[in-house]
Amino acid sequence: MTIHKNISARPSELLTILRSFATKEQVSMTQMLQVAGEQAQLLLSCLDVPTAQIPIRLAQLFPSLVIHYAADLPIPAVSFWGKDKRWHVHIRESDPVAVRVYALLHQLKHIIDHPLRRRINGLSKAGWERLAHHFAEQALAGEALSMTSQQRKEVCL
Ligand SMILES: [Zn+2]
Repeated sequence: MTIHKNISARPSELLTILRSFATKEQVSMTQMLQVAGEQAQLLLSCLDVPTAQIPIRLAQLFPSLVIHYAADLPIPAVSFWGKDKRWHVHIRESDPVAVRVYALLHQLKHIIDHPLRRRINGLSKAGWERLAHHFAEQALAGEALSMTSQQRKEVCL
């Protein structure tokens, strides 16, 4: 799969492009992990900013994404489709920046996978979580290594 062919696409289409990486009805976990890695690589090539600026950059790249910072979340991040027809990600404000960005990327993968989840029944919740973790790790390209295992474990919703 050539992943750079659509790189000049307008930012509003990036979500569509990322979703188009996985189109088969039946795919193995190995294939899904590979797709997640390719999606992360494309996103990484679009980011090109320091980690702390990734949330602002993502909001530019995904016009349908709204990022909120909340003081009292019991978990690092949650995402949901709002009545305003946009994706909302709530991020726990008190977490270190690397954790906040990792949690945001993790949620972004869930958003990318949302239509796919309706079509593929063979994957467990743990499987979708594994894909989101893999995507976030790859997109951060090593930054996530500075997180503790407990911080990483928490970022799973
Ligand atoms: Zn998750």
